[in-house]
Amino acid sequence: MFETLSEKLKKTLKTLRGESKLTEAHITAAMGDIRIALLEADVNYGVVKQFVERVKEKALGQEVWQSLSPAQQVVKIVFDEMVELLGGDASEVTFTAHNPNVILMVGLQGSGKTTSTGKIARFLAQQRKRHPLLVSVDVYRPAARDQLSVIGKAIGVPVYEDATTNDPLALARAAYRDAQLRGFDTLLVDTAGRLHIDDELMTELAQLKSELNPIETLFVADAMIGQDAVRSATEFHERIGLTGVVLSKMDGDARGGAALSIRSMIGQPIKFVGVGEKYDALESFYPDRIAQRILGMGDVLSLIEKVQQEVDEAEAVRLQQRMLENRFTLEDYRAQLRQVGKLGSLDKLLGMLPDGLLPGLNLRMTPQQTQMMQRKLKETEAIINSMTKQEREDHTLLAKTLSRRKRVARGSGMPVRKVEELLNEFSMMRRMMQQMTRGGLFGGLGGLFG
Ligand code: GDP
Repeated sequence: MFETLSEKLKKTLKTLRGESKLTEAHITAAMGDIRIALLEADVNYGVVKQFVERVKEKALGQEVWQSLSPAQQVVKIVFDEMVELLGGDASEVTFTAHNPNVILMVGLQGSGKTTSTGKIARFLAQQRKRHPLLVSVDVYRPAARDQLSVIGKAIGVPVYEDATTNDPLALARAAYRDAQLRGFDTLLVDTAGRLHIDDELMTELAQLKSELNPIETLFVADAMIGQDAVRSATEFHERIGLTGVVLSKMDGDARGGAALSIRSMIGQPIKFVGVGEKYDALESFYPDRIAQRILGMGDVLSLIEKVQQEVDEAEAVRLQQRMLENRFTLEDYRAQLRQVGKLGSLDKLLGMLPDGLLPGLNLRMTPQQTQMMQRKLKETEAIINSMTKQEREDHTLLAKTLSRRKRVARGSGMPVRKVEELLNEFSMMRRMMQQMTRGGLFGGLGGLFG
């Protein structure tokens, strides 16, 4: 996401870098380029105009520029304004003590509403320790209700089902009572979607809202459709009142316009972004991190959060300790691979890292290279799985005996050559570890791919 915009902004800001003194002409020229870049990213015209004006005003209003280079100051101003544009502080769901807390999910058909409902339920259950119940009140399309049931099963969150009623309000009420009775603290209501906004749907949503008194009414916007999504959000907001937005499909080639316009246009924050079809492909929306990503500063913070969520800290410490003591075995290596695996797809992970964070690790990999790396991780795990416990504890057993290597190769379905490659790399890695001063998971990663 934001690739083109990010590239253009970086280029523009770079043109300022050589200047020891920035004149109004420099700034005006740079703002012209930024304006074009934002418009090309499909950001709303009015939003762009305001943004550029504010940046320019601040940039020119700077008194004496001494401690920082002029270019740095402009970058900082652009960054601050972008954070502001994206909503300032991060905003997520805030629960009340009055259970069940209801989250009403609304949006047009195909926007990713049902998928996002599932993703948020999974997120709340796993990361916020909530006990959610799901219900679909789309009485018009049985397929929509089935889809939610399938998702519920996949993420392990119960779905309230009642085929006997065809009244969305009655269904919602029944689900609410059921949540109350069975002690669910959160009820996520997936509402009907239409291809276009129509009065009937809006009336129904307004009724549901007044009936359920939700803590959140979240509009799911398809980031791929840019300004159209912003227009729909505006209309939904005027008709029923939204408390936030879920921006889905940000993994696609969305140009970023919706993300950068929506907050200004409707005055409500983006709370989550969907970044894939899988149910774990959901991120909380942090304006400052997104701004960093757009301006090319690398999204280290998101990465750290992901690491904290997914990686078993005690295990990571144990592995690091073993590395330091030079007792790192193939068994540990496999455990480490599993930790890395939990961080999700590697290309996403690497995209978040700034250049130069890990010396020796080339982060600007082509998609083919990332694919290769992922395949290699899988193969490596398969090979290690085929070893005996003894071999995993002492890799030299394999290094010494061809018949052992052959057996492992057969077991893992890999050629012997791959087993030998792995052993070589592992020995090299152990040697590197001894020299390593930087520990931690990243130290390990560096050893793994360096
Ligand atoms: P609904 O009609 O609004 O309920 O939309 P669905 O939840 O059925 O989603 C429509 C399509 O978009 C499905 O194929 C989803 O897998 C896909 N989708 C939803 N969210 C995302 C996302 O964040 N990224 C991608 N790539 N696809 C998504």
